[in-house]
Amino acid sequence: MKTSESKSNLKSLIGKTIFFVILFLSLIGTVFTQSQAIMAKSESKKLQSELEEVKSSINNLSQQNTSLQAEITDKETAYKKAMENIKFAYLTFDDGPSIHTDKLLDTLDKYKVKATFFVNYKEGKDDIYKDIVKRGHVLANHTYSHDYKKVYSSKDNFIADVEKLDGELERITGAKPSKILRFPGGSNNTISWNYSGSSRFMPELAKEMTNKGYTFFDWNVDSTDASTFRQEKHIIVNRVLEDCTYVKHANILMHDLDPKDTTLEALPEIIEGLKNQGFMFDVLTHDSPKAQFTEVN
Ligand SMILES: [Zn+2]
Repeated sequence: MKTSESKSNLKSLIGKTIFFVILFLSLIGTVFTQSQAIMAKSESKKLQSELEEVKSSINNLSQQNTSLQAEITDKETAYKKAMENIKFAYLTFDDGPSIHTDKLLDTLDKYKVKATFFVNYKEGKDDIYKDIVKRGHVLANHTYSHDYKKVYSSKDNFIADVEKLDGELERITGAKPSKILRFPGGSNNTISWNYSGSSRFMPELAKEMTNKGYTFFDWNVDSTDASTFRQEKHIIVNRVLEDCTYVKHANILMHDLDPKDTTLEALPEIIEGLKNQGFMFDVLTHDSPKAQFTEVN
């Protein structure tokens, strides 16, 4: 009897213990869940405020971006306007190299001015062609031979002569040809009529060379250094400086030939005079303002 009583007490004790353990665990669980909920709530508030901060930053950045965009547009407009007002002078020297090319290059270096040299092929002048390129000037095509009879007798002859010079210049300098071209005598010369037999020859040739990727330039300021065998220096200077007052972009025709020592002598006064007139100097590229006597459509 005693044994069954103690068994019943033990059962009741175990039952109570289990009850309290369950009660305790559920209390712990409730407290834990509640504290988790509190933490989650505070975390959510924190995230919410962070989100608001990010939103406000985005808003600020967007406003800043709009004002920067407006500033950029203003600066671009001002730059375009300033560029439109800048006058550019393109010094061009035809028919070289000559005995004067070295000194022409030294003068240009002295004034930190770049020019365009429309050259022909001259035997034994490799170093000068290289020097023109090395010193930052443009080596442009004025035909290999400059022989009117030859180059203006047919389009094929002209093209072959131009390509022959391009080949030589590439061999000598290692640089791709600029494909900047000046026709001997200009694109509207009438001498070509004698050899081609047609007044339509030059317009057709100009179109053909343009289609082949060449950009040809005539001039709008003539230094007149080729109008006599040896033009006087002051006439060259005055001619250029006066004619440049009428143009915004001056494409100036000069010659780099052995008899043209007065052109070399006139160069410093030409550069200084043009600087005083507010000109900047540049080389001819495919994008330069056109000075073409012959229209190519
Ligand atoms: Zn020439």
